[in-house]
Amino acid sequence: MAVPFRRVSKTAKRKRRTHDKLEAPALVVCPTCGEYTLSHRVCKHCGSYRGKKVVE
Ligand SMILES: [Zn+2]
Repeated sequence: MAVPFRRVSKTAKRKRRTHDKLEAPALVVCPTCGEYTLSHRVCKHCGSYRGKKVVE
């Protein structure tokens, strides 16, 4: 929130920013081709999802 900077304490500012860090993407090994791929996404290496080919 846009607030004059002295109105937000150092502690409040730091607590808010504890959630700012980047998370590593959730990688899983594709059961079809064995490559690393994002979970809950179609595998970009072989086009399969949950063991079935869905994209050519
Ligand atoms: Zn794959």
